[in-house]
Amino acid sequence: MEAANLHNPTQTNHYDYIITGAGCAGLSLLMRLMEDSFFSEKRILIIDASPKQSNDRTWCFWEAGAGLFEPIVKHSWQQVQFASNDFSGLLQLHPYQYKMIEGIDFYQMVLNKAATFSNIQFLQETVLKIVDGASNITVTTDSGDVKANFVFNSIPAFASNKTVPGKKGQYHLLQHFKGWVIETVEPVFDPSIATLMDFQVDQSAGTTFMYVMPTSSTRALVEYTLFTEALLPEKAYGKALRDYISEKLKIRQYQITHEEFGIIPMTNQSFSLQEGRLVQMGGAGGQIKGSSGYAFQFIQRRTTDIVAGLKKGHSYFNHKGLKQIMGEFYDTVLLNVLIKRKMNGGQIFSQIFEKNPPDSVLRFLDNESSFFEDLKIMNSVPTRIFFPAAIQELLR
Ligand SMILES: Cc1cc2nc3c(=O)[nH]c(=O)nc-3n(C[C@H](O)[C@H](O)[C@H](O)COP(=O)(O)OP(=O)(O)OC[C@H]3O[C@@H](n4cnc5c(N)ncnc54)[C@H](O)[C@@H]3O)c2cc1C
Repeated sequence: MEAANLHNPTQTNHYDYIITGAGCAGLSLLMRLMEDSFFSEKRILIIDASPKQSNDRTWCFWEAGAGLFEPIVKHSWQQVQFASNDFSGLLQLHPYQYKMIEGIDFYQMVLNKAATFSNIQFLQETVLKIVDGASNITVTTDSGDVKANFVFNSIPAFASNKTVPGKKGQYHLLQHFKGWVIETVEPVFDPSIATLMDFQVDQSAGTTFMYVMPTSSTRALVEYTLFTEALLPEKAYGKALRDYISEKLKIRQYQITHEEFGIIPMTNQSFSLQEGRLVQMGGAGGQIKGSSGYAFQFIQRRTTDIVAGLKKGHSYFNHKGLKQIMGEFYDTVLLNVLIKRKMNGGQIFSQIFEKNPPDSVLRFLDNESSFFEDLKIMNSVPTRIFFPAAIQELLR
């Protein structure tokens, strides 16, 4: 992979594909294009404002079997702890494993591989404009214009979701979290068990839980997560983490070796998947699940579908299956219940995990469950709360 030099007159500025945004979606697509010799002659340009050299996030997700990014899975768990005042249990995830990937390993894996491909160029620039024209699509950066047959975009500023402030039935929550990787002197963690959700913390701000991902007996990612409409004062995240580590985990001596803060939008707002030659993916394409904030595996599915479509010569990449449409409806109903505070998220997840096999719940959260599983899961939450919310959303 060369760095693109748009002032070099020997380089044409037309590409088969331009990928705008080299984050999770952009690099997942690039990886899949590199894996398939069908694309070895295609000219591909990837543009990002950042050199992607920092460990800015940790992705966790569940998967059955080995995925494309298996070589960089830092740790995986076959069992996870769930805790709340209503239900606590150790959940066996088979056939799934809960996996962790560090952002820096992901960026390096894809960019190092791309460096061995002469048909791929990387341009480190801010994208200023994307304009679809009659015969091609143009991306403008400070270095000039580049053109392509398709642009695959994951830069949020170029998403075409239409936010209508105050629109009825359009819900926006923030999933915000602070995570610390801590290292202890004494062995205190069991690296075979992760804590997926511990709701036994103060719920006064809204749905709030702790997440503990031990990668060894002396190292774990501990994360304080909330689903609320507004952020907390900055100091509150650190205080909650300190209190949990000392009071619940009973750890006195530890060092914080990495810190991350994130805000993930949780919304039922509809996102356009494509406008002309501009194809949307990642957060910009609505691949962040409205009710959970998980996106990694939805992005893998979206980029797999795009690659399959390109190979078949498709020009449209905006198909949504019935399960996805149903999944979005369930997300809307759950957001309705959470935002109107009809029930706390901890109580909802407790009832779902208590009354259903974990693999069925994970399939449901992936929009891949059967209709029978959906019915069973819906039957595990109070119908007096969820049924009116579902009717209200159906009638909109
Ligand atoms: C801290 C954090 C932790 C997360 N953890 C999980 C998790 O555990 N599991 C999960 O499923 N999801 C998680 N998510 C949600 C989701 O998976 C990530 O946000 C994911 O990175 C989204 O992928 P994306 O490609 O849409 O966006 P990004 O990965 O953010 O990529 C967008 C890219 O666009 C670039 N960019 C932005 N503006 C411009 C511009 N004008 N010009 C050029 N480049 C630009 C950015 O530099 C960035 O590289 C997490 C999110 C965050 C923030």
